[in-house]
Amino acid sequence: MDFSLTINGQAHGAGQSLEVVDPSTGEVFARCPAAGPAELDQAVAAARRAFGPWRQRSFAERRAAISRVAEVLRVHQEELAVLLTREQGKPLGQSRDEITRAATQSEGMAAIAIEPEVIVESAERHIELRYEPLGVVGIITPWNAPINLAAGPLTSALYTGNTAVLKPSPHTPLTTLRLGELLRPVLPAGVLNVLAGGDELGAAMAAHPHIDKIAFTGSVEAGKKVMASAAGTLKRLTLELGGNDAAIVLEDVDPLAVAPKLFFAAFVNSGQVCMAVKRIYAHESIYEALCAALAAEARKAKLGRGADPSTTLGPIQNREQYERVTALLAETRRSGARILCGGELPQTPGYFVPPTVVADVDETSRLVQEEQFGPILPVLRFRDVEDAIRRANDTRYGLSGSVWSRDTARAAEIAARLEVGTAWVNQHRTTAATVPFGGAKESGVGRQYSVLGLKSYMEPRVLSILKSAG
Ligand code: NAD
Repeated sequence: MDFSLTINGQAHGAGQSLEVVDPSTGEVFARCPAAGPAELDQAVAAARRAFGPWRQRSFAERRAAISRVAEVLRVHQEELAVLLTREQGKPLGQSRDEITRAATQSEGMAAIAIEPEVIVESAERHIELRYEPLGVVGIITPWNAPINLAAGPLTSALYTGNTAVLKPSPHTPLTTLRLGELLRPVLPAGVLNVLAGGDELGAAMAAHPHIDKIAFTGSVEAGKKVMASAAGTLKRLTLELGGNDAAIVLEDVDPLAVAPKLFFAAFVNSGQVCMAVKRIYAHESIYEALCAALAAEARKAKLGRGADPSTTLGPIQNREQYERVTALLAETRRSGARILCGGELPQTPGYFVPPTVVADVDETSRLVQEEQFGPILPVLRFRDVEDAIRRANDTRYGLSGSVWSRDTARAAEIAARLEVGTAWVNQHRTTAATVPFGGAKESGVGRQYSVLGLKSYMEPRVLSILKSAG
């Protein structure tokens, strides 16, 4: 396999390289170039040159370009999905979904109209608010869903008239590099540049004097560093960070009916999803039944290599995360919490952790307080819903959360009190191109998707006209 950076519409190498590991074996299976400061400068310069002509194009022309990007994703879905599963680990069906979703979301965003807004129209005055592109957008993505998480910021940047430098995680650079190659004949040179590289490349992007905005998706810790690095140039920022989503399950639900939905929302991609359910608060009257139903779902799951068609849960994506998750598991076991299923690590190569449901967990444990980002789900008990709301909100995270009940009006009232960017009722993880997504508190700054998200890739400019010259 041969991979290259994309700079100014051309293949580019680099002095350094990255080794890419297959998480289902723990073995290196590919290498790719790793960009350093020189490649970053070239990519930013190319993006800046391309910005002038690109911003002149109409929204309709740029919408057509996004349609061509979506078409490339669809035509090459299988090739991209196979590569994504190899480097990321997720089941092939989920990789296919990720590629399709990237295409659909991109087209959905590029269908949104951005018009000047007339604020005052009188005999004397006309005042309107226009939106202008910012310039060069640096996009930094994590390893859990590299294509889907690139698609939102990339479409937002390009559709609104900006150009982009895209950097995937060093753990999953290949599918993004391949997409860059496939888009070379589709987009004008320099409009999209793709650089693989480590955390230091991301830091250099955040500090770069000729990048105007950073769209960052990743951990809270790295997000804070991006904000600090960006301060020197007062870059615009969208930060999509981690979450510790709570699902509150009220006493009137049928545990057998909600368990499959909650299980999927917590364990898809082996729990490595920012908005996965990471804690469940279940009413005491249904607590044991829900725990048992979740454990039954976990026993049905098939842990294995993503490329195996029978697999429903793949490995943890990388060694560091595997060590973090297995340390949490060991700590949970020592704490005396009740491990209802899973919990035993298979003695096979690769970073496999079975789906594990844990009952009677101490609220102050790391498993509850931190973002586990892995397939270990704590289920906690409550009697009074006010107590459940307080515990759900007692966190520095605020990405999303959900409330489950047959009484949707009551559930909606409770959901509206969750201190999050998205509060769902009887669902979790439902997003759309026209609906803003992002975090409250330390889960982020700004929103992706929707007209709100698109406008955050633009500078508002007031045009104020006094109709008489004298
Ligand atoms: P990470 O923060 O370690 O890395 C994310 C990206 O940032 C990588 O490309 C990395 O190279 C780069 N990076 C690291 N340090 C940097 C720095 N100082 N400056 C600039 N760039 C830097 O995150 P990860 O481990 O790849 O991803 C998992 C995290 O991402 C989880 O916390 C998860 O919840 C979060 N996430 C959030 C969303 C969301 O939409 N809110 C979506 C997916 C993942």
